[in-house]
Amino acid sequence: MTGFDLQSILDAYGGPPTVGDAAHLNPRFLDLLRLTGFDRRFVRGEGAWLFDERGDRYVDAIGGYACLSVGRNHPVVREALEQALRIGPPTLVQFEVPPLAVALADRLKRFVDRPEDRVFFVNSGTEAVEAAMKIARAATGRPGFAHWSNAFHGLTFGALSLNGAAWLRRGFEPLVPGCREVPFGDLAALEATLADRSIAAFFYEPIQGKGVIEHGTGVLREVAEICRRTGTLLVADEVQTGLGRTGAALASDQDGVQPDLVCLSKALSAGMVPVGAVVGRAAIFDRVFDSIERSVVHSSTFRENPLAMTAGLAVLQVLEDERLVARAAAAGRRLIDGLRKLAAREPGIAAVRGRGLMIGLELDPHAMAFGLPGYGSHTTTLVGQAVSVRMLVEHRVLVQSTAKSSAVIKVVPPLVISDDDVDRILEAFTATIADLRRGRGAAIRGLLDMIARAPDVVLRESVR
Ligand code: PLP
Repeated sequence: MTGFDLQSILDAYGGPPTVGDAAHLNPRFLDLLRLTGFDRRFVRGEGAWLFDERGDRYVDAIGGYACLSVGRNHPVVREALEQALRIGPPTLVQFEVPPLAVALADRLKRFVDRPEDRVFFVNSGTEAVEAAMKIARAATGRPGFAHWSNAFHGLTFGALSLNGAAWLRRGFEPLVPGCREVPFGDLAALEATLADRSIAAFFYEPIQGKGVIEHGTGVLREVAEICRRTGTLLVADEVQTGLGRTGAALASDQDGVQPDLVCLSKALSAGMVPVGAVVGRAAIFDRVFDSIERSVVHSSTFRENPLAMTAGLAVLQVLEDERLVARAAAAGRRLIDGLRKLAAREPGIAAVRGRGLMIGLELDPHAMAFGLPGYGSHTTTLVGQAVSVRMLVEHRVLVQSTAKSSAVIKVVPPLVISDDDVDRILEAFTATIADLRRGRGAAIRGLLDMIARAPDVVLRESVR
């Protein structure tokens, strides 16, 4: 016995969350959970499932904000991490070339089919974006950055400077100077923005996470060409889309684009150990780390730690062994086809978007909130909230509501999701949307009443 007992700590703190619990962290967040039905405790996770204290099983289509590619508690990843702890390689020597970092870089480059690249490891998605911004600036000598409207690249200062949502930037200004927003998909505006050659890099998500917004056919190839003509680096933020989610190793492969730098994170972690990476052309990296003195100009303490590297290695092995990229494509087809069939007969659904297991269901607030007087712009958000709350409470399916100006429900389950669970999601949507529409907004009215009692509570809306 070690005197350390994790189970007893979980037992002591693991009841339904109280105001006292939340006071240690973020009390307003508990208000949000209470408002949305998420003030419950999940006690176990396995694959695409979560279990509550009563043993009830939920299908998790939030997927830890789309990081749970191989599902929760994948046995191969657990065993890999246990091996790492058993073997106990020396951690964080710092002045070394860590073998597990070499192994992961090697395997990752093969997985994404960029064998000539270099890899820079980081601890999260936003750090991947920060690193790419620094690399792009130093490599080009240009000060500026450009991004689409509605973009989401993370919430640290650099990444936030590329964020399309004013409400997320508000209160944190001034951000990085020289960042320019381009209306989503507007190639002429992009060309004009990059024309003065002051922009180091154009950052984009192959599919925007916020609202699940896809580029039109061929748009990204045009973007790549404009970047090439203006000497602007093209940076694909594949933190969410990368490593299988869209049914390809990289969504950029499907788009026919070879970005100069690719940001990765979420999936690589197995939802267990934070890890991220920038994969990019060697010539670009070598312009940044161009001398012995400058070999350390960008770094961080934990980035190549053995547990993170092990998690990444195990994830890539599971993705390959279980053919999860193809699985994401097939499960995604089943879900998208099912949702489109539903949309054809359900007026509450305005559109179904996405690729692989990154899917957005846009609701029609007018059809859904018929009969709701005078709630103005709130109605749109509330329609999305009402659907996600009901999916959770009535059907035990976790989905998130995304995008403030439209009611979009986002579905990003683990890639290991079974056909049965895909069908369960479809059935839950079918029943929920019909019920809410037939109820002529009664459930939405209920939510509004709750909000009226707690007017400063922000709705649970994903920022991603
Ligand atoms: N980039 C994209 C496209 C994302 O979706 C996210 C997170 O949702 C990030 C960056 C930030 O990643 P993290 O939350 O790990 O900082």
